[in-house]
Amino acid sequence: MTIYQNLIGGEWVGSDATRNINPSDTNEVVGLYADGTVEDTKNAIAAAKAAFPAWSRSGIWERHVILKKAGDEIMARKDELGALLAREEGKTLPEAIGETIRASQIFEFFAGEALRLAGEIIPSVRPNIGVEITRDPLGVIGIITPWNFPIAIPAWKIAPALCYGNTVVFKPAELVPACSWAIVDILNRAGLPKGVLNLVMGRGSVVGQTMLDSPDVTGITFTGSTGTGRRVAAASIEHNRKFQLEMGGKNPMVVLDDADLSVAVEAAANSGFFSTGQRCTASSRLIVTEGIHDKFVAALTAKLETLVVDNALKPGTHIGPVVDEKQLKTDTDYIEIGRKEGAKLAFGGELIKRETPGFYLQPTLFTEATNQMRISREEIFGPVVSVIRVKDYEEALATANDTPFGLSAGIATTSLKHATHFKRNSEAGMVMVNLPTAGVDFHVPFGGRKGSSYGPREQGKYAAEFYTSVKTAYTLA
Ligand code: ADP
Repeated sequence: MTIYQNLIGGEWVGSDATRNINPSDTNEVVGLYADGTVEDTKNAIAAAKAAFPAWSRSGIWERHVILKKAGDEIMARKDELGALLAREEGKTLPEAIGETIRASQIFEFFAGEALRLAGEIIPSVRPNIGVEITRDPLGVIGIITPWNFPIAIPAWKIAPALCYGNTVVFKPAELVPACSWAIVDILNRAGLPKGVLNLVMGRGSVVGQTMLDSPDVTGITFTGSTGTGRRVAAASIEHNRKFQLEMGGKNPMVVLDDADLSVAVEAAANSGFFSTGQRCTASSRLIVTEGIHDKFVAALTAKLETLVVDNALKPGTHIGPVVDEKQLKTDTDYIEIGRKEGAKLAFGGELIKRETPGFYLQPTLFTEATNQMRISREEIFGPVVSVIRVKDYEEALATANDTPFGLSAGIATTSLKHATHFKRNSEAGMVMVNLPTAGVDFHVPFGGRKGSSYGPREQGKYAAEFYTSVKTAYTLA
């Protein structure tokens, strides 16, 4: 079997290999991938540092052409890359193709942004002096990504990093090297000079930690768990380095008595269970007012009955497998915790056997949960959702905000007054009215508050806040 290697200083290197497994069919090895060492990582950082001066001064047309070419190739290969993603990560084929299209759109967007780089000229308060405000690239950006969006998240970090003139060391999650390799191969062939983009697949404790410990990594953008995010923060403060963190969520969706029932049920089913609940924007707390509670639970349960859990590549599958055995154990442990805490298991909770051996879990719904239970406070990252009954809108809003997290929040209502009030008073970075809490556009800011995020927003033109450093220059005329 071919070993897909790391890209360091423009060369494909590495012979030690790890394998990754298809979570829909654990007999299938997706591929063999280089297992990066400390030395590989140091070489990649050195290559990125050496490539920075030239790339930071490269022409905006060159950057545009490369990013556009990558976006075009990803779009042209969306079915093939989507199938690879579905095999490697376990989301359904339509979801995986959708994610691939989004990655392409992100490259197209930043190809455009490269042509729109601009600054400001402002008069000084002193006569005969001009002030120019420009944005400089940071230098070497360390990109550390999770497994749940293995094409889109690398795209939304790599594209702006390159667009604004930075060089990159990219370390993907251990479970998803295939998608990461494919994206880097595309960008490399699109014409990036040697060392501008380096790929080091390997372990977090080895490759990731070496990036955190290097004074030559001038910015780190991280998406992953809260625990690792804290390590990134501590190490980055040590080096006085800029960093950006996207971590967990415990996203609420409020359903009010006046909601359109079918809109509420569709949004809850989508944001709670699609992508196997493995989205940081998934709704895991459904906060439902008394008047609609029983109707809503009955309709959502009926909807869950119709959802097919099966092999991610099989037509008709609505929910693919859980990503791996470790995550499956986390999910089933939390189901046990929920039972012991006194929540009522209204649907699911069991493992399922399918034609191909995989990590299949029924969508799981708890009712009669309280907001103080662990299943309502801690991120599970699986298809496990709890319903919390509340008296009225005021209690719903207070419950929605009573969480250590603040990524996304939703409300299902036909009341303009409550929708407007919720948009203003929700303590989340993203608010959805009559829409799932997950599923966002690629050209507008993405990010949260409180324990969910740290640093500037990702995506859209707001990405410039992280990937550049503002310079103010004064000139005597
Ligand atoms: P998850 O629980 O979703 O796997 P992690 O935070 O463990 O979340 O992983 C997110 C990313 O962080 C992965 O690419 C992982 O390899 C990386 N990572 C894990 N440990 C470290 C570390 N000590 N230093 C840097 N990166 C790490």
